[in-house]
Amino acid sequence: MNDLFFGIDIGGTTVNVGVVTSEGQVLVEQKIPSTVEQGAAVVLTRIADTANKCREIVGNDRSIVAAGIGVAGLVDGKNGLLHQATNFPGWMDVPLTAKLTGILKLPVAMDNDANVAALGEYTFGAGRGFPHMMMVTLGTGVGAGLVLGGQIYRGAHGAAGEFGHITIDKNGPRCACGRAGCVEAYVGTNGILRRVRELLPQFPDSGLASCDLGSLTPKDIHRQACAGDALAQLVFHDAGESLGYGLGSVVNLLDIQRIVLGGGVAAAGDFIIKSAQNILNKVALNSGQTVEIVQAELGELAGIVGAASLAMSLT
Ligand SMILES: [Zn+2]
Repeated sequence: MNDLFFGIDIGGTTVNVGVVTSEGQVLVEQKIPSTVEQGAAVVLTRIADTANKCREIVGNDRSIVAAGIGVAGLVDGKNGLLHQATNFPGWMDVPLTAKLTGILKLPVAMDNDANVAALGEYTFGAGRGFPHMMMVTLGTGVGAGLVLGGQIYRGAHGAAGEFGHITIDKNGPRCACGRAGCVEAYVGTNGILRRVRELLPQFPDSGLASCDLGSLTPKDIHRQACAGDALAQLVFHDAGESLGYGLGSVVNLLDIQRIVLGGGVAAAGDFIIKSAQNILNKVALNSGQTVEIVQAELGELAGIVGAASLAMSLT
């Protein structure tokens, strides 16, 4: 197959447009600022211009057969609507798919960024060969995309994958969603920073004691953990355990085969994965005990490659 696909990753600050082969190789990548305040029509025209530029770079003789869009927001993929998105104020029920189909003269598919990233990792990344898998993105928020039976699972309202808001302790800390004890309240960036503040009095010699806690990031904590700092390691260990309990519930419910971790906090990799895996092995029933937690492989290209994977489902 020599068919090529557009992968379009629309974020709040940047839009990435790429041309991807059917083997998942990115031939061209172009980034433009999202400029969402200019409205959907202007942004879509600029995306189409960028796509056409990419088309010229790969050569007009190469056949681009479909386009996929991943966007950070509530998406109705079936009807091609972007219902709403925090990063796109004023964009309500935008028929992105129909508009881009009209401009690019190609079939276009769309889904939210978490689902698209999960599909990308399943098709070309760390989830390859595991048709029942979940990708969890760890950052300020904790999101997830589910692939079940080799297909994105969206649920009744397109709202599946809210892994970060599974309650693991009804008396736990307050989450950004307003509820108590969600996975995100422990594993999201703010939860991790809260744990540093809680434990710091017990570790006066920690390298984190001299840091400005107001500007501390998971990357800083990771640096300390790698240098052997006991507090930094404990904070990731605890976050990993909380993650493991949440993942155990998912594995027991859905009998998935693999969990892929991506996002900024996932850069803390081994520290979090090890303790999450230990807990998962304890709480998972039966076949769930063989489920491995691994790091995502597609990195910054996940958006483009995932969106292109979605486009491939159209052909
Ligand atoms: Zn929550």
